Amino acid sequence: MAIKEVVKNPANVLSQVTKEVEVIDESTIQLLDDLYDTMVENDGVGIAAPQINVGLRVAIVELGEDILEMINPIVLETRGQAEDVEGCLSFPDLFGMVKRPTYVKIEASDREGRVYELEAEDFEARCILHEIDHLDGVLFDSKMTRVLTEEEIEELYADVEEE
Ligand SMILES: [Zn+2]
Repeated sequence: MAIKEVVKNPANVLSQVTKEVEVIDESTIQLLDDLYDTMVENDGVGIAAPQINVGLRVAIVELGEDILEMINPIVLETRGQAEDVEGCLSFPDLFGMVKRPTYVKIEASDREGRVYELEAEDFEARCILHEIDHLDGVLFDSKMTRVLTEEEIEELYADVEEE
């Protein structure tokens, strides 16, 4: 297991379009495992390869008890729109409102190299789209309609602690 340092904004690796994974091999699996360890260590719900300084099209998202592993993900379809709070491991202490589709359908490969399709809604769709944005060098602050105030962030943390 390997916990990597999370790259903080601003950094070139965060704003570059990542490269497709051509061959899924040991190093891809290692990358997925490093992403997982780093996400858990930092209490995240998703993380993308550029956030640990790797310019490849790989990201993971926590879906309930499961971890969704996305290698070379493509967005096939989106529907709806909602505005909600987002944060990002690369932007400590920044939270803001971001508009995203409420439904997404993606195609990606898993660690065995199998291509799968997956549909997600609401919070899960939001997390998946946030991570896929990272792979295109798009950061959530560029989509923010409003930055949360310190009071609002404190309330957010208070809610999380009650859960
Ligand atoms: Zn992020």
